[in-house]
Amino acid sequence: MGGTAPLRPADFEAVRDRVVAKLQALVRIPTVSHVDPAQGDAAPFVAFVEELARQFPLLHEHLELTPIPGHALLFRWPGTSAERPVVLMAHLDVVPVDENAPWRHPAFGARLVDGQLWGRGTLDNKGCLVGIAEAVERLLEQGFRPAQDIWLSFGSTEEVSGDTAELAVAELRRRGVQPWFVLDEGGAVAAGALPGIKPPLAVIGVSEKGTTTLELRVDGQGGHASTPVQMDTTARLARAIVRLDASPFPATVPEPTLEMFRRIAPHAPLPLRALIGNAARLRPVLTRALIAAGPEPAALTRTTLAVTTLSGSPAHNVIASTARAGVNVRVLVGDTVASVVAHVTKAIHDKRVTVSVVEAGEASPVSPVDDDAFRLLESTIAESFPDAVPTPYVMMAATDSRFFTAICPRVYRFAPFRMTKAQREAIHSYDEHIGVDDLGDGMLWYQRLIERIA
Ligand SMILES: [Zn+2]
Repeated sequence: MGGTAPLRPADFEAVRDRVVAKLQALVRIPTVSHVDPAQGDAAPFVAFVEELARQFPLLHEHLELTPIPGHALLFRWPGTSAERPVVLMAHLDVVPVDENAPWRHPAFGARLVDGQLWGRGTLDNKGCLVGIAEAVERLLEQGFRPAQDIWLSFGSTEEVSGDTAELAVAELRRRGVQPWFVLDEGGAVAAGALPGIKPPLAVIGVSEKGTTTLELRVDGQGGHASTPVQMDTTARLARAIVRLDASPFPATVPEPTLEMFRRIAPHAPLPLRALIGNAARLRPVLTRALIAAGPEPAALTRTTLAVTTLSGSPAHNVIASTARAGVNVRVLVGDTVASVVAHVTKAIHDKRVTVSVVEAGEASPVSPVDDDAFRLLESTIAESFPDAVPTPYVMMAATDSRFFTAICPRVYRFAPFRMTKAQREAIHSYDEHIGVDDLGDGMLWYQRLIERIA
């Protein structure tokens, strides 16, 4: 590896400083979304949308804006053709800041220290938002017209699983728009992603696990604690939980993960190279190795479940007449909510425990890798990040892009920023920060992507 240098214009520093100043202003607006919009503060969202209009005048002049209820934005940039429209996504909301977390620099201060810009939202996801908007603004300055319609969908409720992305999808559907491909946050140019692999991996999410919540419930007599019976509601629920815990879902390595191992094999240390190069043939061995490697790699191989909430009797001297447990399930592609319910019911093996679905979230369908749209992402990555290895992967976390799978078979999740392990861990935690050169490179990546759409 090593390869050629990334494609940067002669005036890269000026280009970079402009985008950094814009991101600083946007990070300083605390757009924290709330599950219940009535309890949230709308003022920062209003200010954010106004600031965007100030920062990107050409974008607002030339693109057609459809406001989405809840301060989300849907822009259309008319191209020479509307046959193969492309959707670029980002979200303007952020997760709250824990007051007690030891941030090195104030979370909404957007301080620039030693080539890094610090603050909540720098990576998740205002960096993408400003990267996309600045790429469009620069191209408009140059009089560029895209070959295809470009839609920008900027949601405002991603972090609380709100409905703004769904509403944007409904609007596109109403207008008969069938995107060629959709690009949202998700993967990154990740250094140190896998032990022993030297080059950074440019991981592009091609599917994401679904989030489903089940409730286990046992109803019974209850009664006074001085006259107990065997196997009361609480004991029955506990037995169900223990049985469930002892019955993990069957594990395998899904196709996108196999493809990832094929691609990184040439960069793996020699003893490992053969194993991961023959991943398809050695699927069972690889599956066992991933499970043994810890909870994170293990989650790549199967649907997982965790018992989260528990409730029973409200008093020390009363036996519960109803005992309940909440089960949070992350559905891997290959499983469905129905197959999950069947597995759970069979594992519990007790007709008196009812299993109901509180929230159903299916795994996202797998977007194609052997495809022009994916190859366009790959070749643009090769230009901007010549040392990185582009690869598909299955995301563990959820993004707004899952709603777009309803209208588009090619949904990809990739943020064009170099991120260290520490940076990836800072997302939703503390000390979130982005390198200023990385922000500049990311913006140029979006620009090249738009230029290269045929
Ligand atoms: Zn995000």
